[in-house]
Amino acid sequence: MSSNQPVGVGDFVLLDKIDLENFMNNLELRFKNGKIYTYIGEVCVSVNPYRTMNIYDNTYVNQYKGRELFENAPHIFAIADASHKVMKQQGRDTCIVISGESGSGKTEASKIIMKYIAAVTNQGGQKDIERVKNILIQSNSILEAFGNAKTNRNDNSSRFGKYMDIHFDFKGDPIGGHINKYLLEKSRVIYQQNGERNFHCFYQLLLGCGDDVLKKLHLSRTPGDYFYVKQGNATKVNTINDKSDFKDVTHSMNTLDFNKDEQESIWRVVAAILHLGNIEFANKDDKLTVKKGGAVDHVANLLRVERAELERALCERVIAARGDIMRKEHTESEANYGRDALAKAVYDRLFGWIVDRINSAISVDESNYQYKYKSSLIGVLDIYGFEIFDDNSFEQFCINYCNEKLQQLFIELVLKQEQEEYNKEGIEWQNIDYFNNQIICDLVEAQHTGILSIMDDACKMTAEKVTDELLLENMDKKLKGHKHYCSRQLKPANKQLRHKVDFQITHYAGDVTYCINGFLDKNKDTLFQDFKRLLYSSQDQHLKIMWPEGSQHISETTKRPATAGTLFKNSMQELVKNLLSKEPHYVRCIKPNEMKSPSAFDVERVKHQVSYLGLVENVRVRRAGFAYRQRYDRFLKRYKMISQFTWPNFRSGRDQDGIKIIMDERGFDSDVKYGKTKIFIRSPRTIFALESARNELI
Ligand code: ADP
Ligand code: MG
Repeated sequence: MSSNQPVGVGDFVLLDKIDLENFMNNLELRFKNGKIYTYIGEVCVSVNPYRTMNIYDNTYVNQYKGRELFENAPHIFAIADASHKVMKQQGRDTCIVISGESGSGKTEASKIIMKYIAAVTNQGGQKDIERVKNILIQSNSILEAFGNAKTNRNDNSSRFGKYMDIHFDFKGDPIGGHINKYLLEKSRVIYQQNGERNFHCFYQLLLGCGDDVLKKLHLSRTPGDYFYVKQGNATKVNTINDKSDFKDVTHSMNTLDFNKDEQESIWRVVAAILHLGNIEFANKDDKLTVKKGGAVDHVANLLRVERAELERALCERVIAARGDIMRKEHTESEANYGRDALAKAVYDRLFGWIVDRINSAISVDESNYQYKYKSSLIGVLDIYGFEIFDDNSFEQFCINYCNEKLQQLFIELVLKQEQEEYNKEGIEWQNIDYFNNQIICDLVEAQHTGILSIMDDACKMTAEKVTDELLLENMDKKLKGHKHYCSRQLKPANKQLRHKVDFQITHYAGDVTYCINGFLDKNKDTLFQDFKRLLYSSQDQHLKIMWPEGSQHISETTKRPATAGTLFKNSMQELVKNLLSKEPHYVRCIKPNEMKSPSAFDVERVKHQVSYLGLVENVRVRRAGFAYRQRYDRFLKRYKMISQFTWPNFRSGRDQDGIKIIMDERGFDSDVKYGKTKIFIRSPRTIFALESARNELI
């Protein structure tokens, strides 16, 4: 089949009958014929091809540049172009929200969008704009090295959420940007499920750095020597070349002007974490000590802190009780907990520091007055998709809550936009039934009554008796009767849920069972203050500034910081507010199968995604009476050739009058409504008929 021939319908609103079955048939037909993109109006549905597609080169860029959505076959380039066009022509901020489950192609989509924007801008070849473009693109390899990992779903899974603003000048050229990151899955630093890896950077360092560096960092080439990176038994991944990736990351760091000193600090911290994971404790004569071996020396040396201080912070903590300051020796399990918390926190701060560092390299030059007053932006959101694992913990709870928020945003925006358009054009509007997931957002985030709130209350109790089990009891008490919450206590018949361990949320995307164990600790996210002061005392200036609170007096540092859950909730609410202020464009990614196969289309799996993403409802809303709408001038330009009254030019009235002549002539008048600036057409058949009339003539 020639690549230009239409396969199925390129826009789901053109389906004869809109239901899940027809939707699925069209999607499968197109996927099997290599058409991975299909529209729902202006929403782009993308199916992960799991193979290299030759549809992103310059020929394609030129084909889509400056064109309208309907002029070309569906493509993510058209979405990027539409977003860029609105921004450039109307000076409005836009955003592209990319959603879908893990491995569905979100991150690839965001990279394709960036590359397209880079390809169509800076025609004048200005040096500073070229620099910004380079940084925007190369920052990816650094972010992925430190924020991505191999999971059982995706060999290059993003373990953090990313929202990137690209600023443009009045000509539409990129002049800078800013990255916001959301909740890095830091528990991965200390633990990986079977088949999974730690963040890529650990393996890149071990396999990619030179022998001299390796020696300086006291490391071996074997990931299997380090507890923190070997637990998943998957240190080697076929699709990943850690050695050459290390080179790429170094190259990107150089492009972004990370100086030698900064790069050394970064890798020293990474190495320190590797050694930290090998530290063990011993209980001798009732006194807790660090077991002999080089690890603790190496950690102290690499973090540039006093060895004795490090050892002390690992084995005991300072507590402030009623004004008195005392030392308390750890139990062995407290010491293990402390060591792991240290590793996670150091890595998390390092990641934050790297993001800040990238931001400083692409921050908009505010001293340039043109930029200050005339710039607008495109935001690209690539955030973790809905996750259901065999074991779901606090991280999945946060990630899935984030997806609820985005779904809520989608519902609001898609409905709102349609409604606004009909109102604006003076056309009657019909309501479509949607599952509104606000109720699930409330279940998680409502003040006082939401799960996050109940969790925070439990974390505030001082007694050491507060356990995860007690938290679950509290949740049961407060959430009893909620349609989307359940536990074994509330529904004894549900044998899949374990007593006093599990709870279940009916998310918009399906039921997820969470294991409560660890929720309290992860929400409290305690790092003994001794570590904070220790890291602040580091001779490494970069590491030191990652720990500003280490300079505070002990009585200050013992105060309780905001919980991880609350911080995440605030960041999500901020994100939603930000997206609401922009004109949104959507890419909805679909994963065709679990085997990463380029040919398999697992109907059940895809059906599930189509259902929970609300895509069929999306088509219905879009069609709410009208499958198609277009501005009068554009519509006339396209179809004027099919009537002798309008060809070659219609001069005896408004565009709308010319169109009325065409439609009357063909007997379509009853299928059409005329808005203030646009024509609305009810049945897709009318468009087919017009298109074929046009095709006969060209
Ligand atoms: P997500 O970010 O949604 O978890 P990714 O974007 O990382 O998923 O995609 C997972 C993998 O699927 C990629 O590493 C790549 O192999 C493949 N893939 C995704 N999108 C495309 C595409 N447009 N073309 C080719 N391969 C793709
Ligand atoms: Mg990703």
